[in-house]
Parts: sequence; structure tokens; C-alpha cells
Amino acid sequence: MEQLVLLGDEAIAQGAIDAGVTGIYAYPGTPSTEIKEYAERSREAREGKINVCWCANEKTAMETALGVSYAGKRGMVSMKHVGLNVAADPFINSAITGANGGLLVVSADDPSMHSSQNEQDSRYYGKLAMIPILEPGNQQEAYDMAHECFALSERLHVPVLLRITTRLAHSRAVVRRRKEILEQNPLTLPENPMQFILLPLSARKRYRELLDKQERIAREAEGSPFNNWIDGSDRSLGIVAAGIAYNYLIENYQDGKCPHPVVKIGHYPMPVRLMEDLYQSCDTILVLEDGYPFIEELLRGYLNRGKRIMGRLDGTIPRDGELNPAKVAKALGLPVHDGIPVPGLIVSRPPSLCKGCPHISSYNALNEAMTSYSKGRVLSDIGCYSLGALSPYRAIDSVVEMGSSITMAKGVADAGLIPSVAVIGDSTFIHSGITGLIDLVNSSSPVTVVILDNQTTAMTGGQPSMTSRIENIVEGVGVEKEHIRVVNPLPKNHEENVKIFREELAYHGVSVIIPRRECIQTATRKLKQARNKTKAGEETS
Ligand code: SF4
Repeated sequence: MEQLVLLGDEAIAQGAIDAGVTGIYAYPGTPSTEIKEYAERSREAREGKINVCWCANEKTAMETALGVSYAGKRGMVSMKHVGLNVAADPFINSAITGANGGLLVVSADDPSMHSSQNEQDSRYYGKLAMIPILEPGNQQEAYDMAHECFALSERLHVPVLLRITTRLAHSRAVVRRRKEILEQNPLTLPENPMQFILLPLSARKRYRELLDKQERIAREAEGSPFNNWIDGSDRSLGIVAAGIAYNYLIENYQDGKCPHPVVKIGHYPMPVRLMEDLYQSCDTILVLEDGYPFIEELLRGYLNRGKRIMGRLDGTIPRDGELNPAKVAKALGLPVHDGIPVPGLIVSRPPSLCKGCPHISSYNALNEAMTSYSKGRVLSDIGCYSLGALSPYRAIDSVVEMGSSITMAKGVADAGLIPSVAVIGDSTFIHSGITGLIDLVNSSSPVTVVILDNQTTAMTGGQPSMTSRIENIVEGVGVEKEHIRVVNPLPKNHEENVKIFREELAYHGVSVIIPRRECIQTATRKLKQARNKTKAGEETS
């Protein structure tokens, strides 16, 4: 059996490939990015046997995977947790259409917000959609579960949500591949030609079918190999450990054996029989889960009048932040090992834009042009340029979610703060800025939109841009040509750029400025790759 050393993300991709997936679609976002990146390096992708691609946003990625499933093949979509908000419409509706070929939705949650704007827990989305949720506890399970999710999806004819969190997504371990690598499904259209037509008449029927399936969905979880009882003789405490929390638990025991009975959860809905056994046989219950108190809330119920349930809600575990072995040790009253102290030579410093970053020149020009106006009118977005909120730039006044800069700037202008400015990156503009710009054009709002075009998706590792001609899109949605200004954000062009910013800010209508210069990191990487290629060519000749 072949063994590989894989990140949790990579294990999911390999599991999907070995399960005969036909298409993998994604939008980059930490901690999910490596799923698609691993898949695209696979032999299957390089030989064109599977489709692996970045999409404009998570919604388009979800819909494309749904299309693959409609055609009877296995489709997967991956995203970070907040991306599931963007994909929520097709995600929830895909539970109503159901799946034809297996449909796997991977959402990577980021408790502690290492690279995110909230800690939301995707398990609530799975519950909302009323579909099975799987949650791996280690890299091997990530691989096995990805494989199993497709089979489960095809047995139940519903999409399956695979939820992973940052630590598992970004840590490596040995994964044993299955001997049997599955062939792709043949093309097969849905038996029921109305299955994917969600007009009210058929949607009501489909919803009823989803409700009728709930018992079977629960039975699958009840008998799942990913839900286990691990016995322990000390029944003063019973523990529920979900996903990676089980690893954190056993890390606290040198022999890897917990003295208390444990219900290990990897497949939801929660297995009622195991939970009942634990509840009846133990004095107190401790719930260990990474993310929101999802299980704990369900166990407590609304009135919380049963046995003592410990977890995040009673403060045994802090309510916010990711779980770790030290927090688990504290909850169990065990000695806390804080890890190795950080050596003195490592100085912590706040994040900042790279030296030579094109955004620096753009912010310097914007700040100077804005000196004639009062503060608080620059609305921004998600990307490297969000760092413009910090010193020394202090150039932007909001960072909320993908695409919010343009629409919030319209709201600010509608409220009377004129002109207002939106600052958005090229990738974020394609992701969810275009529709906001259409709103601006339709209402002729006095907003200057600055689209920082660094020709890559820099923050998530430099994935290629979706387009090199943003100005064509801008013109296509109706911005007047004379108010679309492309500038080169270099220090030597500062005076000229300030002048252009001032002119467009003074214009009482929609204007767009596109500072275009490649991200220094991407440009350097490309240069190095070109040099290495030349060197390799010289050595072989
Ligand atoms: S990665 Fe690129 S875009 Fe991001 S801060 Fe660095 S140079 Fe700027």
C-alpha cells in the first residue's frame, strides 16, 4: 500500500482523486487553498483526466460542481468557511435538488481567525441544509472521508459537507492510499427529469423527499465507522470529542489512553445511541470541539436541566479561539504543557505590505489626494491591501467581506458623504465587486472605485488573475470611458497619480482608477523560475 506524507488539505484532494472525481472547483482562501493546488499537480489533472480550476468565486465553483453531479459524475468544491456564505444559495438548494453523481462540498474553518474575519462554524450550514457532515480527526481520516463522502452522497442522493479546521488542513502526516483507485462514473442524466427543476411545484416535492430522507441520513451516521465508542473505566466523566479534538485529548495521555469513556464524532448528525449511552453511564459530560459549541448546544437543549455539560458554554473551554491540547488539559485538570518558549531572537512584528509592493504607491497617492476631504470615507475590501488600515498608511476605513467596499461606498455616498471611495483588489472585484459597480452605474453614485490590479491573488499565495483587462469589464458595465483611468503605481509617478486621483474625486459620478503593477512577490517568483529554466537549458545543451 502506497504511503504519502500529506497535509490535511492534500489528503482530501488525494481521497477525491482516488474516488474517481471528475471535477474539482475552488476559490482560494486560507486554510483551503492547498486542496485545489495539490489536485492540479496530480498526474490525473496534468493528463487532462480531471478538471481542476479556480473559479470567479465560491458560488460559481459550487454551481460548477453541482453541474458535474447533475451529469452523473463526481464533483467536488472547496472553499474557506466564509466562502460558504457566498456559495450558500446553491449549497442549500443542492440539498433540495439532491445529487446525481456524488457531490462533495469541503469547507475549511478557521477558528482563531488566523486569516479570516470571523470564526463561523460550517457545521451549522450542514445542519441548515439537512445533509450529512463529516469531520476528520487526522490526515488519514481526511483521505478516507473524502473517499467515503462520494459513496455516501450517491447512496443518499444528497451532497455531503466535509468540514476541516486550520490545524489539520495545514499539518502533515503519513496517509496510506487505498489499493483500489476508482474509475470515473459514466455520464448519466438524472432518472427524474424534474429533479433539478426547482419550480415551486417540484421544489416542494423535492423538499418533502429530503425530509423523508432524514431518518436514513441519521441511520448512516449511527452506523458510521467514523463515530466510535472508546471505553474508559472512570465514569465520573464522559467525553464527546469531535474531529481533531480527539487528537488533542489523547495527546494529554502519555500512553494515548484516556481513562474516561469517549464518544469520538466524525460523522453528523450525531449518533444518538452512542450519545445516550455516554449520557446515561457518566456523571458529567465534557464536550471537546473546535469551533462553536455545536454539539454542546444540542446536548444541553434549550432548558439545560439535565446533567452537567461542560464545554465552551460554561467557560470550561474559552468560548472563542481554536481548541488545542493545553486547553483540553486545563479542562481535565491535567498538567498544562505550554510548549517550547519562543527564542528571544524571534521578534514579533505586525503584518505589513512587502517592500516595493505596488499598493504602497497607490495608498500614498490616495492619501495625498484625500487631504482635501474629511476622514472616514474610504471603504475597502479583503486582500493584502486590507493592511492599508494600519500604520503608516491608515488609508482605509472599513474591511468587512469580499466585495463590500463598492456597495458600502455607495451607501456612504447615499448617506451624504460625497465623494466616497471604494478600494478593492482585482481578484476581489471579479469575485464579487462587479455587481456592486453595476449598482453604482445604475444610480450614478458619486463614488470613485480604486481597483488595485496587482495581476494576481496575492494574499492566498499568488494564484493567477482571472482577467488582465479589468478596464474592459468596467467599461462594459457602463462606466464612462473618460472616467476609467489606468495608472502605474510607482514612486516616480506619485505627482501624476495624485493629480489623477484628485480629478476623479472631484467628478460627481462613477469613476474608476486602476493602479496596475504586478505584485513584487509574484514578479520575483516568475523571474526566478525563468532563470532556473534558462540555467537548466544551458546545463543540458
Ligand atoms: S504579496 Fe504582493 S500584493 Fe501582497 S503585500 Fe506583498 S507585494 Fe503587495
